[in-house]
Amino acid sequence: MESPRRLDDALRALAFAPGALVIAGGTDAMVEVNAGSRRDQLARGEVIAIDRVSELRRFRHDPSSASVLLGAGLTYTELMDEPLASLLPALAEASRTVGSPQIRNAGTIGGNLATCSPAGDALPVLSALDAVVHLADASGVRSLPVGEFMTGVKTTALASGELITGIELPVLGGWQGYAKVGVRNAMVIAIASACLATDVSTRSVRIALGSVAPTVIRCPDAEQFAAEHVDWDSTSVEPDVAARIGSIAAGAALPIDDHRSTAAYRRRAVEVLVGRLVRRGFAGG
Ligand SMILES: Cc1cc2nc3c(=O)[nH]c(=O)nc-3n(C[C@H](O)[C@H](O)[C@H](O)COP(=O)(O)OP(=O)(O)OC[C@H]3O[C@@H](n4cnc5c(N)ncnc54)[C@H](O)[C@@H]3O)c2cc1C
Repeated sequence: MESPRRLDDALRALAFAPGALVIAGGTDAMVEVNAGSRRDQLARGEVIAIDRVSELRRFRHDPSSASVLLGAGLTYTELMDEPLASLLPALAEASRTVGSPQIRNAGTIGGNLATCSPAGDALPVLSALDAVVHLADASGVRSLPVGEFMTGVKTTALASGELITGIELPVLGGWQGYAKVGVRNAMVIAIASACLATDVSTRSVRIALGSVAPTVIRCPDAEQFAAEHVDWDSTSVEPDVAARIGSIAAGAALPIDDHRSTAAYRRRAVEVLVGRLVRRGFAGG
């Protein structure tokens, strides 16, 4: 097992063993190991722990471009801390809903993105904010819009030998929030989730949904309707407009019946969650 301290060393180790099991917080990877997969990599000792790579544990806020570059190894607990909580409030709100304190202390945003579960709590926020994913391997770097990085249920554009190094997000001037529905209030995987982010300067609304399609989806029709029908001057919304935005968003969902819920319940949950987020975001004042 390798436990590099520097990104260069991690990438070199991965180039040497491109099939190695990469572990950040281990909260998804060890579940897989316990379920019986990845055992051959463990047996061969092909494990690269990246939790001590200092470059992955930092963030950089650039006020001139109104953006934040998050290291892939930042934990949910760190995302809930200031100044990130004020710069990226929806991400902090989503982080607060993840697992338990132990999971939030270990689990990372890079791990959530690499696992790419449709229920990953960070992912609707990254989608709504049009995140750019920074990737590197031993021979170079590249960047992809998050919508191109997430390709399906637990599949991504991550190539063999590559690591997610960072996630770049805009700092928007406007309300943003995240909400999810599960079978209980804590330690719960989302049955449906939604992020709403507003940008007052461009009078635009972004809405992304989780757990209701093979991967996180945006709702362009609901976004456009919202931008045209909320009152930007008083940042308020009529109740029937908020409800209509929720039902248009529900129309974009492609949910399935599975062991956690039914498609019909998920669609209804989206309608309610988005309607509530719109009312919170446009509460006036
Ligand atoms: C009890 C429990 C509760 C949970 N609750 C939630 C929840 O409420 N919401 C939620 O969204 N998730 C939840 N999870 C899932 C998990 O905690 C998150 O997905 C977490 O973000 C994974 O991050 P990690 O650092 O632990 O990833 P790891 O387990 O270390 O890695 C996961 C995958 O990502 C890859 N990987 C990690 N970092 C990188 C990188 N920088 N570059 C390339 N590949 C990388 C690994 O190789 C592995 O394939 C829960 C898990 C458990 C065990």
